Amino acid sequence: MRGLINAEKCRAFAREASDGELLDQLGFFSDGLEEEALAILRRELSQREAKPGPLDLVIEEHRRTHGPLVLFAPDRFPRLCGECHRAATHRELGWVRFFGLVPMFPRFAYFCDNHKIHP
Ligand SMILES: [Zn+2]
Repeated sequence: MRGLINAEKCRAFAREASDGELLDQLGFFSDGLEEEALAILRRELSQREAKPGPLDLVIEEHRRTHGPLVLFAPDRFPRLCGECHRAATHRELGWVRFFGLVPMFPRFAYFCDNHKIHP
């Protein structure tokens, strides 16, 4: 039986994803991914010259160095950044905006290093 993923969408995501997004998906979200999706993400990352060395070692190194910064939910999956597909490393108070413009009420949200609100 074929998996439930849409392989074409997965390949499109992999092509557009940053190295950090691919590493986070493989390093922290792999338990929730199907084998076919894992293979697509691994293939994409292994084709990028910026990540030399055996892929499993690169992923393990990312897990070791970046993992302590990641915020995990009670279900042991990482929180996802509200702006991209990276694992969240910050929880910050932001504003829910009416029609995306008018601030209505404050709410905590999760962000990666690139999208955190406060420096
Ligand atoms: Zn982000």
